[in-house]
Amino acid sequence: MPDHSPLITGVDVVVTNPMRAPLGNFVLVRVTTDQDGLHGWGDATCSGSEMAVAAMIEEHIAPALIGQPAGRIEQLWHTIYHLPYYRSGSVHLSAISGIDMALWDIKGKQAGLPVCELLGGRVRDRMLTYRSVSGRTFDEVLERVHELQQVGYQVIKVQVGVPELESGYAVPATDAQQAATEEAFSRGVPPAETWEPEPYTQLIPKLFEFLRAELGDSVQLIHDVHERVTPSQGLRLACDLAPFKLFYLEDLLRPEHLDTFRLVRSQSPVPLAMGEVFCNPWEGQELWFEHLVDYARHDLAHVGGITAARKIAAVCEARGILTAWHGPGNISPVTHMANAHVSLAVPNFGIQEFDANWDERIEEVFSTVPAYADGHVSVPLSAGLGCDVDIAAARKHPYVRRMRPTIRRGDGTPWAY
Ligand code: MG
Repeated sequence: MPDHSPLITGVDVVVTNPMRAPLGNFVLVRVTTDQDGLHGWGDATCSGSEMAVAAMIEEHIAPALIGQPAGRIEQLWHTIYHLPYYRSGSVHLSAISGIDMALWDIKGKQAGLPVCELLGGRVRDRMLTYRSVSGRTFDEVLERVHELQQVGYQVIKVQVGVPELESGYAVPATDAQQAATEEAFSRGVPPAETWEPEPYTQLIPKLFEFLRAELGDSVQLIHDVHERVTPSQGLRLACDLAPFKLFYLEDLLRPEHLDTFRLVRSQSPVPLAMGEVFCNPWEGQELWFEHLVDYARHDLAHVGGITAARKIAAVCEARGILTAWHGPGNISPVTHMANAHVSLAVPNFGIQEFDANWDERIEEVFSTVPAYADGHVSVPLSAGLGCDVDIAAARKHPYVRRMRPTIRRGDGTPWAY
């Protein structure tokens, strides 16, 4: 039987930084074929390892793809997954993710159909979404929740700074911390952060008590722990937050501490979300098989692209676990489009994060970005993923080194995440 598939003629990587500092770079992958201009775009962005991913694709993966039928997505996924003897991990799987998205884009363009049609067709027309707010104080957080409610958000992620700590993940830095970060970037070295998990663990239940007293049940709330607590602190936090009816509690425990999810599950009714740091579709599989969490939050640019996401969703569907694919601003619009196509097509959709503060520079580089309205996100549907890249515009914004911070406790002990 003939393949009816175009053959791959090229795999090119474009590393670009069209975002405002201090955000990082996008790693974009273009797969070209032998059919009149037919090509696909994927996103292999892996924050903190951008140039390693680019080299992985160009030097170690692309040569195995040239001349292969682009339509054999599953075969090629496994071919390049097993290509290195030392496989898996963030760099390898981000590279695979970018190529996988590009191959789905090609297949959709060849068929003249949006990718979600190839995945079985739309199950919904638009997707519930949320945004994050943060502040240095409870009152600042409340003010920003009100701002989002006024434009229709029904679900909001809330983060707050810990007193005495200059910075923290996803909270506004103090002026002093901001100046120190910019000074570090100017020297091309990582900024430094201090973190103490215990004051944070004690503070967050007080934030939720404050917000529920002010907001009642007018909005659904999410909080992201970013895995910055010990297993016992995570267990205590999940129990302390139980009265406040969270939409979900995200990234409670590090991937190294997954066994503790069994304890958390047995002692707290808080819905749990996990997955954005998994770099392999099989990583953390006990969470889904044992129904230890409620939302799968994988990042399609790190976990293996659309091919991996649809399998994860299918495993979760059987257990009533819902999807909540990772959708921050520091992955490119190509991944946001991939997120949308899978989210539109799976029955067990939960929510789709679309949390980007992009400006006109993004729209110069990318043909499409998702649109927000009335608590939901939607995307225009055209053949493939529907997001092409203007290479000339991308090249106007070359790679800028943006290292993630080193995180230490007050006594100098290195701390994860
Ligand atoms: Mg998270």
